[in-house]
Amino acid sequence: MDSKKDPMEVLRQEVSDSKMLDCYFHQLVQEKGGISAEDIREFMTNYVMKHSDTETLVDELDLEHVRACSECGKPMYEGFCIEDGAEYYCSEDCLHKHLSEEEYNDLYDEGRGSSYWTSWLD
Ligand SMILES: [Zn+2]
Repeated sequence: MDSKKDPMEVLRQEVSDSKMLDCYFHQLVQEKGGISAEDIREFMTNYVMKHSDTETLVDELDLEHVRACSECGKPMYEGFCIEDGAEYYCSEDCLHKHLSEEEYNDLYDEGRGSSYWTSWLD
């Protein structure tokens, strides 16, 4: 006997490979109504998130409330903004891999400088 396969997976693969899929899909959409804009947006959201890193998403989509940490690449909505956005760091750990406390304090300049902790959610 062959190793067991999940019949749903075999079905799914065969549907996916079928030459008739396009045709049947369009027929169903006509009978059942179109795909909702919400479903399409959700699909696009999942797709671009899967294939892009946070920094690319922020740049390409001109996002307002999120930045990518220049060290670890994680998304952040608050953190260190260095020299008016030349770099962003999500935490003191990430910050101090690039700038010492003293270097940061010089840039911060007691709030008068171009580097500071901020939130982009406001
Ligand atoms: Zn980080």
